[in-house]
Amino acid sequence: MGDLLKDIDKLDFKTISFNIIIIVTCVVFSLITTYFNSNINVRLNELGNYLLFYLGGVFGSLIFIFISKIISTFKILEIIGRNTLSIYALNEFIPLRLNYLGHPFGNGLIKKAITFCVLLMIIFIKERVSAKKGERMFHFLIRLDDACPTMNSKSWEKIEKILQNYSVCPIVGVIPDCLDKSTSFQNKYDDSFWTKVLNWQINGWTIFIHGYHHKLNRIPNGTKTFFKNVETHSEFVGLSVSMQRNYIRDSIRIFKEHKIAAKGFFAPGHTFDANTVSVLAENGINYISDGYDIKPFIKCNVTFIPTMFDTPRKMPYGLFTFVFHPSSMKENDYLYLDNFLKKYSKHCISFDESIQFVKGKQSLFGRFCESIIFLLRKLRRRK
Ligand SMILES: [Zn+2]
Repeated sequence: MGDLLKDIDKLDFKTISFNIIIIVTCVVFSLITTYFNSNINVRLNELGNYLLFYLGGVFGSLIFIFISKIISTFKILEIIGRNTLSIYALNEFIPLRLNYLGHPFGNGLIKKAITFCVLLMIIFIKERVSAKKGERMFHFLIRLDDACPTMNSKSWEKIEKILQNYSVCPIVGVIPDCLDKSTSFQNKYDDSFWTKVLNWQINGWTIFIHGYHHKLNRIPNGTKTFFKNVETHSEFVGLSVSMQRNYIRDSIRIFKEHKIAAKGFFAPGHTFDANTVSVLAENGINYISDGYDIKPFIKCNVTFIPTMFDTPRKMPYGLFTFVFHPSSMKENDYLYLDNFLKKYSKHCISFDESIQFVKGKQSLFGRFCESIIFLLRKLRRRK
């Protein structure tokens, strides 16, 4: 029943008062079925009137389903929910084992306390094991770049449909004040653009600031990028701290004006410097979609969600971000994405889920990848 009702959040009329009306109605009906049915003992298979028994079961389940819709997240309940089978299977088994040990556990209260502690231990071990297993699995995020009022709306609608089919919530890079003609795919400025962004946000997509004007300038000689980089142009690298601060503050302001929460940042052309990172942190932007590793890592007080390869591919394990530029996607690219999601969409996670994989500094392996990818790109440029 929970599975059938999991999409109810998408209905327009879903509000807290709607949930409360359903809960109260179900309570009334379940009380009526309880009143008219005889005593029930499931263990002895005494169910009374079958119709009343099942109706009572359905109303009772609905009460809890709709209460859970009002409570957004509750860690303890989530843990209990994941472990109901262990609790059901062992809550009678443990006291029975204790009975064999005889007198020291004869007291009901002591037995209950021991059962509770043993169950707690089992749940703790099980949660740790599955967390470790989860860390070793292959996960990926989808990132969509260059959303702006002159993007190719038709292409974006197409990718939106594919992602919706597989319930994928991507990260979208929105350019706050686009002045870059290379991202312009239609002459008309789309007045409904920010409403679209707001709808993405409502549907669970994560919105990142992607540059400011998205206009690249030549990187001054001798200026260091944050990660090893072969790019010659950037919007941020080499700019003064105050200028970068203005860019970021303006971007946040524009997002706020349109009720968009900026969850993170990534720079055009993967190019930014240490000043960009400190200005972002100073303005409460603590996530950057960039960097090299197989799990998110922290560097200079900011968390990096790595982006090692743009094209989706199945990896043995680790967290990867696959990047798309919907405005310039070809028919084959959509097919490739659709096929990839058909096979692997269960490995796709949202930005919020990816945060649980943050495990400290960039690993040695991550730094090795950064150097190798840098060398390969350098060699490719020389050809
Ligand atoms: Zn871009």
